[in-house]
Amino acid sequence: MIESVGFILAALVGIMIGINLNKFKIERKNLKRLEMLNHSYFKGLNYLLNDDSERAIDVFIELAKTSSETFEPQLALGNLYRRKGEVDKAIKLHQSLISKPNLPENYRTKALLAMGKDYMSAGLLDRAEVLFTELVELEAYTPEALFSLCEVYQQEQDWSEAIKAATRYEVVSKRNMTNEIAHFNCELAENSLHEKDSKKAQNYLEAAFKINPKCVRAKLIEAREFKKSGRWKKAIESYHQSLVFDDVFASEYLEEMSLCYKKINKCEDFKQFLLEFIQSYQGVAPVLVLARIYKNTEGITQAEKFVEGQLIKKPSVRGLDLLIKLNLEKSTSNIKEATKFLVLEQLVKNLLDKKPNHRCRKCGFGAKNMHWQCPSCKSWGTVKPIYGLETE
Ligand SMILES: [Zn+2]
Repeated sequence: MIESVGFILAALVGIMIGINLNKFKIERKNLKRLEMLNHSYFKGLNYLLNDDSERAIDVFIELAKTSSETFEPQLALGNLYRRKGEVDKAIKLHQSLISKPNLPENYRTKALLAMGKDYMSAGLLDRAEVLFTELVELEAYTPEALFSLCEVYQQEQDWSEAIKAATRYEVVSKRNMTNEIAHFNCELAENSLHEKDSKKAQNYLEAAFKINPKCVRAKLIEAREFKKSGRWKKAIESYHQSLVFDDVFASEYLEEMSLCYKKINKCEDFKQFLLEFIQSYQGVAPVLVLARIYKNTEGITQAEKFVEGQLIKKPSVRGLDLLIKLNLEKSTSNIKEATKFLVLEQLVKNLLDKKPNHRCRKCGFGAKNMHWQCPSCKSWGTVKPIYGLETE
């Protein structure tokens, strides 16, 4: 309510200044009309201040029919309703502006853009698409309309249309959409793989690489397809390339890499790679993978020593969790000791369960699982694993 009052007062001051500056220039016959306008405006304002937004809307809709001076504040008031989540009121107000007879074209297109956004917020994507398409055809607010159209197609998961809108938006706005378009192609590739059409998927991956030669996601899709078809060496090659592009997502696929190396009996090579990778990688993921390999190849005691050494250098809750699990396996014959480790294991589990292990670098949204598109701010490739003592 405070936000609303602030906005309304600012809008009111704006309109009153505009009215007063012109007051001395206009003829006497217009003064009466202005008085009526002011009266209506105060009436609407009074309803708003008394939290009676339904009656306030009716007053402002009547004003929209008779006056063009109130266009901007009413447009902004509608936008405010949308931001507050009262989309039905925003639509009602913007609709009244659009339906006003003899409305100048530049006002009409501005109101169309606002109403398109209202429809998007209300989840009425078909209607939003119609309005934004009309604006693009009219060449009015083209960058904003194309950007919003691209958002509509993303929500509809119509990736081909999203690519077209993003490509056109890139041209008119000069904003780089490389990252987004590469992800849309990856979405199409994933859909094709779901439909068992690997040829089509390969074409989409090639399109993703064409626009973003260092697309980690496309490289990972490629690696997983090689792995699925038993082409272990090709899969290993692709995983390593994705690490070169950006190793921030390594924790998502080091276990998969481990399996590929195992399949071609090259575990020693992978161990050497991990020992070097641990030096440069911020997170604990390579330590956990290497500890499991030590456990299988050299026994629990060796794995335990390795984890202890790494925990001193780089403390982490996940490292501690693994150390407890290794000790638990060792103490199966000692019930008293095993009980202690079980309690500790549960405590650490509770601690880890409460923490997200991925976070959007743009909006701060925390998630347990990996998302290529942030569920909160809708950015692409911004949700990344969190490194650090508590979350790892
Ligand atoms: Zn985000």
